[in-house]
Amino acid sequence: MSGAGQERFTGSFTQQEPIPEDAIEAAVAVMRSGRLHRYNTEDGEVAALEREFASYTGAKYALAVASGGYAMGAALRAVGIGPGDKVLTNAFTLAPVPGAIAGVGAVPVFVGVSEHLTIDLDDLAAKAGEAKVLMLSHMRGHLADMDRLMQICNEAGVIVIEDCAHTMGAAWRGRMSGRDGLIGCYSVQTYKHMNAGEGGLLITDDDDVAARAILLSGSYMLYSRHGTQPPEEAFERAKYVTPNVSGRMDNLRAAILRPQLRRLEAQCAAWTARYRAVEDGLHGTPGLTVVERPEEERFVGSSIQFLLLDWSDEAVGEVLSRCAARGVHLKWFGGAEPEGFTSRYDSWHYAPSARMPTSDRVLRGIVDMRLPLTFTLDDCALIARIIRAEVGAVWQGHGQD
Ligand SMILES: *Cc1c(COP(=O)(O)O)cnc(C)c1O
Repeated sequence: MSGAGQERFTGSFTQQEPIPEDAIEAAVAVMRSGRLHRYNTEDGEVAALEREFASYTGAKYALAVASGGYAMGAALRAVGIGPGDKVLTNAFTLAPVPGAIAGVGAVPVFVGVSEHLTIDLDDLAAKAGEAKVLMLSHMRGHLADMDRLMQICNEAGVIVIEDCAHTMGAAWRGRMSGRDGLIGCYSVQTYKHMNAGEGGLLITDDDDVAARAILLSGSYMLYSRHGTQPPEEAFERAKYVTPNVSGRMDNLRAAILRPQLRRLEAQCAAWTARYRAVEDGLHGTPGLTVVERPEEERFVGSSIQFLLLDWSDEAVGEVLSRCAARGVHLKWFGGAEPEGFTSRYDSWHYAPSARMPTSDRVLRGIVDMRLPLTFTLDDCALIARIIRAEVGAVWQGHGQD
């Protein structure tokens, strides 16, 4: 059935849009000034980005840093997590999340994943007593029931730090992702919702957390040059006891980001339109489970996942290779060996975990695909037709036994 006459997709799953021209001009102006370091300017691009991002999210304080992983490490340190402490986190996430926990000497305790690809709230309730902090990863943009999650954590006295690498611009019942927890962490590297190459942001309403995070990021005694800053007393409490763990953002990256922040809402809508186009095309494919999105969730569809539940490894492999032959590059989170960006909780040998059979079943079935904005809606419909045809062909062959 393969070969001539078949539709093929020729776009690139790793191709983001170019940096907008006004952002390029702002970057060139920073380079002409020679003042790239944030403290080489009184009130430069980084400080302006912090003010604008705080205002966008509704947070009191925003801090721009070197990466999303750095933001998570600083957040953990800022709430007092150190060597030997346990930190709850998602079994379904990417390696920099347990990595940030391990980076401060703490120990990840993995919480399972539901069929909605969100953190398993029953498992969270069962494990909440084991740790003081939850590093909650909104992996691939799926938001858990944040009302119930916050209730579980508040009742157990667990501090929530949100990893919003995939939910910048998303919301739960109108509350911006990153605003339920004490701290929200974001990434602005190329594959996320704004593209500075590398970079991260952290938000909080808490004076002491903000002061500690600013000092941690490498402010020296220049912390009064920040875009949003807590009262002097908070710095007085923190400045001699907080190490400088250098990880600042520079004016060049901030200059590239500010024009992108102004466009973020429109970009998010464009992503979600692409997501819906693929989702529409996949509904009703035998053997394939579409992940239903709750009404309370406003998500950003910068990637899409579907489940091939209870398929054999061999059959999933066949779907992947047949789709790849037609230009559709899917990633499988169930693979025993980590590949590219994917890995499973059992790949992280520095953080051994008891097996979670219900989660393992879900993880084994997760197939993932990026949706860069360089794809048109027609591209998305074509991609869905290809997946539908190849899943169907393999399912008829041996998926269903
Ligand atoms: C990208 C990513 C991070 C880390 O961000 P970096 O800026 O690459 O350090 C953290 N969590 C998730 C889920 C990510 O995808």
